[in-house]
Amino acid sequence: MDVVSENLTFTYSKDSKALAFKALDGVTLSVREGEFLGIIGKTGSGKSTFVQHLNGLIKVQKDGGRILIGDFDLSDKKCDFRKLRSKIGMMFQYPEQQLFAETVADDVAFALKNFYQGQSAEERAEKVREALKLVGLDYDKIKDVSPFELSGGQKRRVAIAGVLVARPEILILDEPAAGLDPKGKKDFLDMLAEIHKTFAKTIIIVSHDMDLVAEYCSKVAVMKDGKIAKYGTPEEVFADGEFIKNCGLELPLTARIKERLKARGMDIKGDFTVGGFIDGVLAALKGGKR
Ligand code: ADP
Ligand code: MG
Repeated sequence: MDVVSENLTFTYSKDSKALAFKALDGVTLSVREGEFLGIIGKTGSGKSTFVQHLNGLIKVQKDGGRILIGDFDLSDKKCDFRKLRSKIGMMFQYPEQQLFAETVADDVAFALKNFYQGQSAEERAEKVREALKLVGLDYDKIKDVSPFELSGGQKRRVAIAGVLVARPEILILDEPAAGLDPKGKKDFLDMLAEIHKTFAKTIIIVSHDMDLVAEYCSKVAVMKDGKIAKYGTPEEVFADGEFIKNCGLELPLTARIKERLKARGMDIKGDFTVGGFIDGVLAALKGGKR
C-alpha cells in the first residue's frame, strides 16, 4: 500500500481565534510501498501531527486536504479505521507507557483480540510466541509475568511485540529510540531492518538522530513550519549542509567528516552510511586523490 498525503493542512483549536494554531500547512508527500522513510525536523515542525493522521488518531479536517493509504481514503467519513489500524502499526515515544494488561501474554495478544476475532486460543498463543521471539523474548519464560515487574528495556520490547503481533504492513514509529542507550538503539534498529525485510513492507520513522536516518532510511522528508521542506534519498537531503542547518538540524557524522575532509582537499564519494563512507575513503586513497 502506498501512502499519499495531498495538501494536508491541520489547525489545532480551529474554532478559537485566540488559540488556533496551524501545525500542518499543505503537506504533500508520497511514500511508496517498500520505503524506509525517515521524517526529520526540529521540535514543533509538525512531525507528530502528521504521523498521527496516518492511522486516524487525528482526523483529516474539513478542507484540510486528503490522505490515501492503499484503498483507504482517510478523509472520507466512511473510512473503516478499525480495518486500517489492523494494517498500520503505530508506536510512540516510550511505548512501554501503553502497557496495561495483567500478564505479558495478554498484553501482546490485545491487538489480535481487537482486530481478529474468531481465532482459537492456540492460534493466538502461537502468534504471541512469534511476536515475542521477534523482540528477543522467550514466550515460555515471560508469558505469565506482570508487565510491571519487567525492566525498562524488557517493557519496551513487550510493547513493541504488541504492535508487531498484528503483522502490520506499514509500521509508523514516532521517536522510538528515545531513552535507549547506544547498544539498545542499534539492536532496536537492526530489529526494525529485519522486520522491514519480512512483513512490514513500509516503515516510517520520526527521529532526531541523523546518524540513524543516514544509516537505515531509503528516503528522508524534512519538515519545517508544518511543510515538507525537502524530500529525497539521504544523499540528496544531506548534500546541502546549509539547508539542513537552516532547518535547525545537524548533518550525520559521516557527512560532517566529509565536509571537513573536503575543506582539506580530500573529496570523498559514496553515501552517508558508515559502510559507504569507508568505501569512499578507501577509493579516494587508492585513487591517490589526497
Ligand atoms: P513535532 O512532533 O515536530 O515536534 P508536533 O506535531 O508535535 O511537532 O507539533 C506541531 C505544532 O503544533 C507545535 O507548535 C505544537 O506546539 C503544536 N501542537 C501540538 N499539539 C498541540 C495541541 N494538542 N494543541 C495545540 N497545539 C499543539
Ligand atoms: Mg513529536
